[in-house]
Amino acid sequence: MWMSTFARFALPALQRSTSAMACQALRACHRPGQAAGLLSSCLKSMQLRGHQTLGSASLPVARQSVRHVRALDEDRLMEVEWEDGGHSLYPFTWLRDNCQCPLCTLQSAQARKLLMSDLDIHTGVDVVEVTNDNKVSIVWPDQHTSVFDAEWLKKRCFSPAARQAMQEELFLNERYYWDSKLRIPTADYQEVLHDDKAALAWLLALRRVGIVYLRGAPAEQGHVARLAERIGYLRLTFYGHTWQVQDKYMANNVAYTSGRLSLHTDYPALHFAPGVQFLHCINQAVEGGESEVVDGFHMAEQLQREDPEAFRTLTSLPVDFTDTGTDYCDFMLQSKKCIIDVDAEGRVARINYNNATRDSVLDLPLHQVQPFYRSLKAFVDIMNRPENVVTYSMEPGDIVTFDNWRLLHGRRSYISRPDRLRHLEGAYLDWDEVMSRLRILRNSVHEDM
Ligand SMILES: [Zn+2]
Repeated sequence: MWMSTFARFALPALQRSTSAMACQALRACHRPGQAAGLLSSCLKSMQLRGHQTLGSASLPVARQSVRHVRALDEDRLMEVEWEDGGHSLYPFTWLRDNCQCPLCTLQSAQARKLLMSDLDIHTGVDVVEVTNDNKVSIVWPDQHTSVFDAEWLKKRCFSPAARQAMQEELFLNERYYWDSKLRIPTADYQEVLHDDKAALAWLLALRRVGIVYLRGAPAEQGHVARLAERIGYLRLTFYGHTWQVQDKYMANNVAYTSGRLSLHTDYPALHFAPGVQFLHCINQAVEGGESEVVDGFHMAEQLQREDPEAFRTLTSLPVDFTDTGTDYCDFMLQSKKCIIDVDAEGRVARINYNNATRDSVLDLPLHQVQPFYRSLKAFVDIMNRPENVVTYSMEPGDIVTFDNWRLLHGRRSYISRPDRLRHLEGAYLDWDEVMSRLRILRNSVHEDM
């Protein structure tokens, strides 16, 4: 059990439904003794935390049939009664806005042609009925006709449960929280490149757990870029398309030394920090250089529980970050970020913390300076607890892939020897591109099943 400490918080029903969802693709690629199978068995024993919903919408849904449909003219809603007894309500305005006919929708782009200026947001309906092939047909007052597929409607039901399920299918925001007992999910590099099921399992685990280890890449440059091509494209930054983590003379970044790197996220000096990071070990140091990671979302949750005042401070006070130098080209970055970003519902969405690039400019009133330091210290103390830190040592050919919006990573100092230079190659991607590939793989793998 990876997260026995937190097992008592897990909702058994939730875990059943969501584990089934998360592991469905993983089971499909289970072959005893192979890396994807290891990934699968790792995930099955984990507890879901964080953005909890009841959604299991990526499981294939049973075909939906409409029993009855009627217009509630006074409320300007269409009511659908489903064969399973459930009901859904759809506003007339939304239905007219989302007419799927070729006049209103560009089929080749699945994009809306209907202009907002042509949408009557006070429209009524003339006729609503169920067609012979179990679709819902609406004739509007101007005699324009819309036909809606039952499953399409069902997925877009406005009930809280249906909306939650749809959002979970789209964004996979449920996360497995972990601590030092994590066995990092592991997959085979070549399998991920060439097998869609293995690639899907990799990206699902990257989303849910936040870190996946890939083994078996050649110990030479170019493979983080190859892996990024598997998804879409990588994220160019001032450190280049890919970047070489080595002990460098006159280093333009603390990472390019042999010193210890405390737990950090990469690039908070960018307002839009890279979402995903790949690090490929090409050569390891003779001594030292072990990697450390913590689950930042889990750490933020611990801080919120143990020290709510510090949590409030770190989620509300913007801090300045800076990065200046020359690499891909010359740069002089400034940003303002809270150490912990929360979304509109107050859920932790991103960690922004790198002590090396935290600016000496601190745009806070005097009385907030000491509370800020106290709060940051409390957060860092939690993430440095041995029970929270996972330590591993990369071997040549290993690639670690992780969520840079969630994990904090560091490395121990190492002995730099000219005949055995430690060398990692890194690359960034963004979550939009990774999630795009994940959705496409999920569709294609499910079609094959
Ligand atoms: Zn239309």
